[in-house]
Amino acid sequence: MATDVQAQEGDQVGPGDEWGSELYRIASNQFDRAGALLELEPEFVTRLSQPRRALVVNFPVRRDSGEVLGLTGYRVQHTLTMGPTKGGFRYGADVSLGECAALAMWMTWKCALLGLPYGGAKGGVRCTPSTLSAGELERLTRRYAAELIPVIGPDRDIPAPDMGTGEREMAWFMDTYSQMMGHSVFEIVTGKPVVLGGTTGRREATGLGVVYVTEAVCERIGLDIREARVAIQGFGNVGAVAAAELYAIGARVVAVSDATGGIVDQDGLDIPAVARWVADHGTLVGYPEAEHVGPADVLEVPCEIVIPAAREQQVTVENAPRLRCELVVEAANGPTTPEAETILRERGILVVPDVLANAGGVTVSYFEWVQDHQRYTWDELDIQERLRRQLRAAFGRVTDAADRLACDWRLAALSVAIERVALAAQMRGIYP
Ligand code: GLU
Repeated sequence: MATDVQAQEGDQVGPGDEWGSELYRIASNQFDRAGALLELEPEFVTRLSQPRRALVVNFPVRRDSGEVLGLTGYRVQHTLTMGPTKGGFRYGADVSLGECAALAMWMTWKCALLGLPYGGAKGGVRCTPSTLSAGELERLTRRYAAELIPVIGPDRDIPAPDMGTGEREMAWFMDTYSQMMGHSVFEIVTGKPVVLGGTTGRREATGLGVVYVTEAVCERIGLDIREARVAIQGFGNVGAVAAAELYAIGARVVAVSDATGGIVDQDGLDIPAVARWVADHGTLVGYPEAEHVGPADVLEVPCEIVIPAAREQQVTVENAPRLRCELVVEAANGPTTPEAETILRERGILVVPDVLANAGGVTVSYFEWVQDHQRYTWDELDIQERLRRQLRAAFGRVTDAADRLACDWRLAALSVAIERVALAAQMRGIYP
């Protein structure tokens, strides 16, 4: 049936409305504030404030029972100006176009701040991975990879792990792409198992990077990290690695949590024992040597350093007044709302922004991609040394910009990144 629907006044969709989500509001708010500080010309606001491309796919996946699940997946590419796009894909019940758009924009700033030759991207499939069998996840991943063929490629857009995905999914993704191309294409994803063209050190990279950045920040503010008490929300790929590394260098990890709850010990947790418990039992539930609290309560434990390493929007107007720390190091993407950040600033609590704090992951992804292209492998020490150097240099750029622009570290980090991308956009000009 032909339709001839006139838009009603008040019904119009405004610029950017398709990305509508709380996370996109946060990312846009940050971009606007950094843009204003830089006095960014309107042309570049127009060119950078929204993603360049997005693909939405609906596809069927057959369950083990024979039933067919209808799933929705996304891939958002924020800017094509800096080279191929780069960023993870996640599986979760809340995954949406707007969430991927916000995360893709943050990937652009993260890569630009670190000087990596990529624009930002992010993708995901809306699903509940804990309810799916390994076989179902494999079929889901392979179909999602096949659906993305029109927009990905080793020199176009290179996915990686994110929440709910890891080496196993990257191996399936790489295999699916390779089957379609007729030969092995290792450089189509990063975060792969080492035997399939992955790099040593990628699994630990995000957590290790969090610690390298925290060390540099502590040196700068005169805090002895080995004397510091640290509370970590999240005990997954990022939180558990950061906890282990902090424990190894002598910091006192007083609280950690996972989705089921948190554990606290003001004398310091025995992190290797906690990790063994989680390996044996799957969660922190029942861990004998600590006080048990709710998953968000660990953010409020008295300490010097709080590391949100779980998910977005965890530090809010609700709990920001109750944080009792000197430093928040954002290991997750977008864990602090702008309103909460204002409260933290007024309370003199420093925030180390996500685009710097968790950039170790994509930096080692870049090392992986370079090694895949070179067909030459680097050793672990080399990777750790380069990672540390690159993160420290980025932190130096952030503190220089913060001094120059008289602003906090988030605005400084975003300004450095936005300036770089805007300069590239200016030099490339506008086609045609
Ligand atoms: N998903 C990670 C991030 O948010 C890593 C992305 C990548 O390695 O490309 O930074």
